[in-house]
Amino acid sequence: MRYISTRGQAPILSFGEAMLTGLARDGGLYVPESIPVLTHDEIADLAGQSYEEVAFRITSRFTGDTFSEAELKSAIAKAYAGFGHAARAPLVQLAPGHHLLELFHGPTLAFKDFAMQLIGQLFQIALAREGRKITIVGATSGDTGSAAIEAFRGLDNVDVFILFPHGRVSEVQRRQMTTPSEANVHALALEGDFDDCQSRLKDMFNHFEFRDGVGLAGVNSINWARVLAQVVYYFTAAVSLGAPGRKISFTVPTGNFGDIFAGYIAKSMGLPIDQLVIATNQNDILHRCLSTGRYEMNGVKASISPSMDIQISSNFERALFMAYGQDGAAVAQLMDEMKTTGGFTVSQGALEALREIYASGRVSEAETSAEITAELARSGELLCPHSAVGVAVANAQIAAPVPMVTLATAHPAKFPDAVEAASGIRPALPARMADLFDRPERVTRVPNDLAALEALIHERRRA
Ligand SMILES: *Cc1c(COP(=O)(O)O)cnc(C)c1O
Repeated sequence: MRYISTRGQAPILSFGEAMLTGLARDGGLYVPESIPVLTHDEIADLAGQSYEEVAFRITSRFTGDTFSEAELKSAIAKAYAGFGHAARAPLVQLAPGHHLLELFHGPTLAFKDFAMQLIGQLFQIALAREGRKITIVGATSGDTGSAAIEAFRGLDNVDVFILFPHGRVSEVQRRQMTTPSEANVHALALEGDFDDCQSRLKDMFNHFEFRDGVGLAGVNSINWARVLAQVVYYFTAAVSLGAPGRKISFTVPTGNFGDIFAGYIAKSMGLPIDQLVIATNQNDILHRCLSTGRYEMNGVKASISPSMDIQISSNFERALFMAYGQDGAAVAQLMDEMKTTGGFTVSQGALEALREIYASGRVSEAETSAEITAELARSGELLCPHSAVGVAVANAQIAAPVPMVTLATAHPAKFPDAVEAASGIRPALPARMADLFDRPERVTRVPNDLAALEALIHERRRA
């Protein structure tokens, strides 16, 4: 299995190389050269298997010879052992024909743990084998950073630096990043917003001398290994509802497009997914693009579903690459136009290709809160604001007899203020992390300045 860049100008890599690299050197994102297809029988045979067994059968199709069967199986077993639910990704019925896929039983209470816990294990195997040390730098609006720290804390051959926007993450999110006490964990509160964090991270990747000097590695949502890990739960959910004998639709609360792109991969592998619905909050660049063909930045407005507050959606580049028939030059041109003018228009053919696969909907702040209240009354489920965006969009898209699955991307206790304001109920943290508010915090305030950040990383890393 070989991996190519969406911009067509970077070296072709193995799975292991693409995983450790993150962003391609031409600025593009790695995608598999071709997508393996499972037969009807192979999909049917996933029914009743453990989450870990399904994860092995899916991911092993993409990992080439980077890992032995024993290594991959052991990594998967360790990755999900710390989850708070034996099913890992349980399904709950909300209404006839509508199900909620709970992806928040991992150590940091958001779906990011599914991918991050696995790549933490895979990185460890690959680095130990090569005797290599790396520096992971990540930018986060809250959930990615805590998931990355949880996955890499205490590892000898990895230092992990997380940039988060000072004062703009929830207290639970911040504490999950600042309370781990291991010496290889560095939480950095940047004076700026999430876009500033992402921009400085991109600058570091484009500064090749720094990148190579510290062994910079990326684990943000553009890392292909993360997308791959997320393909698994589309299979477990669909098969438990009757696939491959029956079509299933999914609605996905979307920001950077990593999670829903995993759904597209599952569909391309032969899983009979009917609708794949993008749910956005008021930061609706994706919904506008699908509706009008124009992809255009217009600022970020802080919302009660902050993990979806994005101005541009990085993994959408992969969807464009597919919609443009894997034409890297065309994608590179769109991205250039984006950089110089702040937007681009998708060609008619590509727009039709996108609409074949994705539907979309957008929810306002008031509608999000109202959905939390309404779902509590309907089914007794207390939703986090991101999941509420999903459920609200899904309700408008359900087309019987095809069952709809909405992805619940975070636990309500991760966003207690917004949930309490909407429902009057303050959700409690699960018992296994009930002491989060008593643990001491450790954080460094940093300026929004590339040279200062690079100097700090050079000084702090232990390698
Ligand atoms: C990251 C995140 C999202 C958005 O996922 P993408 O893969 O970036 O589209 C939605 N909800 C929660 C809770 C998240 O942490």
